[in-house]
Amino acid sequence: MKMSDTVVKQPSTTKTKKLDSDYLERPDCFDCGPYRWTITYSTQELASIRRVGGEDAWGITLIGDLRIIVEDDRPLQFIKDTVLHEIRHAFLYTHNIKIPHSMKEEDESEREEAFVTSESTMWLDAMQKNVELFTWLMTYEED
Ligand SMILES: [Zn+2]
Repeated sequence: MKMSDTVVKQPSTTKTKKLDSDYLERPDCFDCGPYRWTITYSTQELASIRRVGGEDAWGITLIGDLRIIVEDDRPLQFIKDTVLHEIRHAFLYTHNIKIPHSMKEEDESEREEAFVTSESTMWLDAMQKNVELFTWLMTYEED
């Protein structure tokens, strides 16, 4: 796709729209490829894993268990950003997507972390400002 050269950029005036309240519950699972992943919102459980793994993060993706655990004592917008970050790890794993070596990080897990971190906030912002667009995109159409 090619954008027109004559497009005049307009500042966004879109207010974040709320979906029907049926959709506002924190989801406890999601499907990705053949897998169903669970999401747990627990600062306590995440802290216990951190003590073992020694990592400092607001969320973790446990690939072998098909689980995501995120802190639950943060502002909701921050929790959503963290969930989106973690599900991107889950999607990369499920679809066996490797991050190209063109990124500056040498270590593969560091490349994935940089890749996932780079766009999660952007996507959350885009989805929340374009509810109609993303709802339309997410609606499966049977031909
Ligand atoms: Zn990460």
